[in-house]
Amino acid sequence: MGQRGTPGLHADSGLLVCFDGFAARHCPEMTEKGQFRAIKGTRDILPADSALWNWFEQTARDVFETYGFRDIRLPVFEETVLFARSIGEETDVVAKEMYTFEDRGNVHVGYPQTVEEIVRSNEAVQAAWQAGRIPRTFDNELRVGLIQNACDRVSEEGAPALLRFIAELHALDLGDSITLRPEATAGSVRAYIEHGMHTQPGNVKLYYIGPMFRRERPQKGRYRQFYQVGAEVLGPSDAPAIDAEMLEMLLVFFDRVGLTKTTLYINSIGCHECRPKYVERLREELRKVKEQLGADSQRRIETNTLRVLDSKLPHEQAIIEKLPRISEHLCDACREHFAKLKEELKLRNIAYQENWRLVRGLDYYTRTTFEVTAAGLGSQNAVCGGGRYDGLVELLGGPAGIKGIGFAIGTDRAILSLQESGKLPALRGFEVFIAWMGAKAYPVAVAIARKLRARGFSVELPPEEMKFKKSLGLANKLGARYALIIGEDEAASGTYTLKRLVDAQQRKFSEGELLEHLASERGQGR
Ligand code: AMP
Repeated sequence: MGQRGTPGLHADSGLLVCFDGFAARHCPEMTEKGQFRAIKGTRDILPADSALWNWFEQTARDVFETYGFRDIRLPVFEETVLFARSIGEETDVVAKEMYTFEDRGNVHVGYPQTVEEIVRSNEAVQAAWQAGRIPRTFDNELRVGLIQNACDRVSEEGAPALLRFIAELHALDLGDSITLRPEATAGSVRAYIEHGMHTQPGNVKLYYIGPMFRRERPQKGRYRQFYQVGAEVLGPSDAPAIDAEMLEMLLVFFDRVGLTKTTLYINSIGCHECRPKYVERLREELRKVKEQLGADSQRRIETNTLRVLDSKLPHEQAIIEKLPRISEHLCDACREHFAKLKEELKLRNIAYQENWRLVRGLDYYTRTTFEVTAAGLGSQNAVCGGGRYDGLVELLGGPAGIKGIGFAIGTDRAILSLQESGKLPALRGFEVFIAWMGAKAYPVAVAIARKLRARGFSVELPPEEMKFKKSLGLANKLGARYALIIGEDEAASGTYTLKRLVDAQQRKFSEGELLEHLASERGQGR
């Protein structure tokens, strides 16, 4: 990083800015809080919260595994075309929200400014071109020539040639287009196909946990890096019992974590047979009322018709309510599938509400769609979305006849809702602080710390000697449950003094008694 007042690269835009300007715009309190901030829409989950996150994710693992789901760890970036093809070019996610970049291999593209830098940069480009490190497309050939030309003219022309040079340099297509995953169904299906999982017996049940990336407008419950816990079932069967069991698992999980004020909405959006006809009908009706709709809906009539039903604009609601409903246009097979799903949900005592406007944003869904909303979240109250995607495997080049269904829970929002409800679990915090004093006490402290840790206790062993008063003060401040006092006396007699900090109750133990006592206190949840 440069000195204040010297130019440097701006991290977001890659533009050259002065660090004074950078500091003033981004870090008004730079001297107090440092120079850097997490990028807009991203955030740190600090230790104060991460215990809750870990518990939430571990509970998901525990519940999902009882339903036969197994963890899949996927890359966080994939080929852009995978998302474009599966999610759909016209969806908001693909059209506006993806973090896409070229995988530039070993060709470095910077922002040269001086004549020497330009000459050096040009030499690197020409050498990379000769060596075949820049894909040999017609456009690239043209640009490599224009780069040479701008370099040749920069001494004479100055700034215009410099700008041309930089523009052409950055317009080079340097390789594959890569995207940070905005969701993980596409990656799961890609992995399913790539690893020939269709040859496994029965349905393949996968779950994943991890970050997703969408360039959305950040607000409460909406981030650019957010986290999902999701599950997918892929295989030859599309029995409605699969959908119902997945919803059961989801609600069992929400119940287990204490997210109880939830509502499950379900819908069927038909299949490749009946949906196109319905969409055509809908489009016809929408065209008739086009003038009364807002700009987004007007555009969506042609590009992503079903999404008009998602509109939250107050003045569009009465219009939308009068539109034809998909339930009246489902083919026999889809109608039956949806009816069976509802029977299966009843069998499992799962309460739901039907919502004919629940179409979901992504193109790949067929038949069953669902969403779960939770209390305390304002407008971003969807904590889970999902549905069937029976044609996706084939669409992505996999075997025909493989069906799929999945969901993704938004961890950020689920946790926000739990925090708002105030019903948080009592997570085990830090347990034993070892207050040692004296050269003879130290080796005893080291040994007992290791033994306690081996038994799973969380132990803090001060690295430097402290007076007991200071030690106990620190133990309290750190929120320890116990202080284990080891002074010269204890070291000499082979005993330990255990102080329970909440009520200052204090007792002496031998080592064996101490370990037994702590284990029994923990067993009783104290
Ligand atoms: P989707 O893949 O859009 O169906 O999203 C599934 C779930 O992920 C939603 O119900 C949200 O809980 C969560 N989610 C989606 N986008 C975001 C975001 N930008 N920030 C936080 N959570 C999100």
